[in-house]
Amino acid sequence: MTKTLFLFILLVGRCSLLSAQNQSNYLKAQPNIIVILVDDLGYEDVGFNGCKDIPTPNIDKIASKGVKFTNAYVSYAVCGPSRAGLITGRYQDRFGFSRNPLFAPNDPNMGLPLSEETLASALKKSNYKSIAIGKWHLGAHETLWPSKRGFDDFYGFLSGGHQYFPENWTLQDEYEVKAQYDAYNTKLLRNNTRVEETEYLTDALSREAVSYIDKYKDQPFFMYLAYNAPHAPLQATEKYLNRFDTIKDKKRKTYAAMVSAVDDGVGNILNKLETLSLTENTIIFFLSDNGGPENHNASNNGVLRGGKGDVFEGGIRVPFAMIWPNKIAANMVYDKPIISLDIFATVIAQTNTPVETKNPIDGVNLMPFLTGENNEAPHEYLFWRKFDANDYACRNTIGQKIARRKDINMLFDLGNDISETNNLIEKKPQSFQNLKTTYEDWGNQMIDPIFLGLGEDLEYNKLHPDRFHRDKNSKQ
Ligand code: CA
Repeated sequence: MTKTLFLFILLVGRCSLLSAQNQSNYLKAQPNIIVILVDDLGYEDVGFNGCKDIPTPNIDKIASKGVKFTNAYVSYAVCGPSRAGLITGRYQDRFGFSRNPLFAPNDPNMGLPLSEETLASALKKSNYKSIAIGKWHLGAHETLWPSKRGFDDFYGFLSGGHQYFPENWTLQDEYEVKAQYDAYNTKLLRNNTRVEETEYLTDALSREAVSYIDKYKDQPFFMYLAYNAPHAPLQATEKYLNRFDTIKDKKRKTYAAMVSAVDDGVGNILNKLETLSLTENTIIFFLSDNGGPENHNASNNGVLRGGKGDVFEGGIRVPFAMIWPNKIAANMVYDKPIISLDIFATVIAQTNTPVETKNPIDGVNLMPFLTGENNEAPHEYLFWRKFDANDYACRNTIGQKIARRKDINMLFDLGNDISETNNLIEKKPQSFQNLKTTYEDWGNQMIDPIFLGLGEDLEYNKLHPDRFHRDKNSKQ
């Protein structure tokens, strides 16, 4: 070998080594993303929002070492549409996900349309591994499962809720389901395969979260951890119930135990990140998918009016915190309105991920607002639409809000009346009209629902007599 050739080989080898090293450094610099979504948690049921009877020290760390949002919203007041908004960064009414979907394993149109890009699909373009854990609720047909929507791993269930104790998971798969709520009794899925799980559901989901962090510790990952707790049914183990002997109300006690189980899980996740030295480079979002249904699960929305299902604040304003050490100041409180759709936009911006231009996103990158680079408000207006009830709401930055519920039009000043007790529509007709016009302009961009929803079982079953019948072409 000539000296020149030897030098050439050495140089090429070194270049490719450097290139691999650069690639590795680049990937390591990309932040990990964890979205912890809880289900039907009341606004005042976390320590960082003033909860007194349920300690949530681990969840509170996300707020105390990061930012607590006091005017944080979701895009819908119940589970399914709220999740569709969060995972796409778009108002779900843009693509017809305006109802809670029915459990319909043979229906490819019952769920998140394939025209929509999920955060996991987008992050694939930035070499992320994505994991969905817990409640899916974005479609039970196999073309809509997490593995088809950008997630490399899935551990959880497809339905809108689930039984918490493994002895109740008696159905082998989705085709043994014969009625909407039977789906709560299906065995869990790991990716596309049913598994035998033995732990209390919340503990199992936390265990999987910790395990997947280990699995993907050497590369950027996105974890969508969707606990179904503390959504009904109210079920908890003695381990957690025993922490709440002071709570005499049985429902509240069980609810508290369920929240406490989630808090333990969050603690395990934070500890795992710390052990692996990943804390600094991981963004965590914590939020509820909608407000608490107070009468149903004994949650507490505090001073907020209404609850799950309402366009009042109790339905749509949620506990929301975010941590990204070194990038966001500790103990920060951010009061301007934000919405769950901003998670998508923030993550995309911070990871330089290209998105589908045909689907303009409604979320906003929050980071410039949290670093003080931008002192304006992220959103001039936020919108909510309950298509079937013809209820809607729209609020502006300064807290003027219109709400229409059961054909009654209302105008509130949230800055002085967070409980929405004083309807100002007579006193300020022009303010009402301005917001109504803004809402209507937005509403004209939305489309009608593309599937029948929860509560429309009878109609759906008539149209789809084979709703639960196993399709012979199915891989199941
Ligand atoms: Ca929910």
